[in-house]
Amino acid sequence: MRILVVEDEEKVASFIRKGLVEERYAVDVAHDGQEGVELAALNPYDLVVLDLMLPKLDGFRVIQRLREDAVDTPILVLTAKDSVGDKVRGLDLGADDYLTKPFAFEELLARIRALLRRGGGNAAPVFQVADLVLDPAARTVTRGGDKIELTAKEFALLEYLMRHAGRVLTRTMILEHVWDQSFDSYTNVIDVYVNYLRKKVDQGREPRLIHTVRGVGYVLREES
Ligand code: CA
Repeated sequence: MRILVVEDEEKVASFIRKGLVEERYAVDVAHDGQEGVELAALNPYDLVVLDLMLPKLDGFRVIQRLREDAVDTPILVLTAKDSVGDKVRGLDLGADDYLTKPFAFEELLARIRALLRRGGGNAAPVFQVADLVLDPAARTVTRGGDKIELTAKEFALLEYLMRHAGRVLTRTMILEHVWDQSFDSYTNVIDVYVNYLRKKVDQGREPRLIHTVRGVGYVLREES
C-alpha cells in the first residue's frame, strides 16, 4: 500500500513517514499543496494524508483539485486545531476522514487501515486464499495454520497480491503500490522479492499460490 503524505512541517512529515515505513507502507512526502497535487496525479496512491495549512495551495484547495481531476484516492485530513468548521468544510469538499493534531500514532494507523479497507472495497479485514491467511491489522500470515515470518517488504508485497487475488498484476502495478519513488524503474527488485515470498509461502506446500505470468507479471491464486 502506497501513501502520499502532504505536510510542510519537516519534523511532523518525517515522524509520520518513519512510522508508516515501519508499518510496511511505501511512503512519499510532498512539502506543499502544489507538490501534493502533482504527485497525486502522477502516482496511483492508495491513500493521501493531508495537512490543511500548507504553502502554495492549502489543504482545502488540494482536496478540491484532486476531486475535480477525478482522483478518488481516500484522503485523511490532519487539522491543527479542533475546529468544527474546518472539518465540515474538508469533508464536504471530498475528504474521507480527519484527525486533530496532536494525535496518537496508533490512532493514525487505525484510521489509515479503516480507509484502506473502504478504498479497496473489501469489508473483510482478513484475506484468505486456499489455506493462506493474511491479517493486515494483526500483521500476521499463516499457511495451513503455521505462522510465516515475513519482512516488512515481503508482507507488503503479499498483502498487495492477496488484496487482488486472481488478478494478474504487472511489475509496474506492483512497483507503484508497494515501493516508493526511490525505486522507479528498478523493476528487478520485484522478482527478487517474489522469490523470497515463494520460498516462505509456497515451498514444500500444495497448492502453489504465487504464479508467474510470462512477460506480464504475477498472480496469486489457487489454480484449478
Ligand atoms: Ca502545516
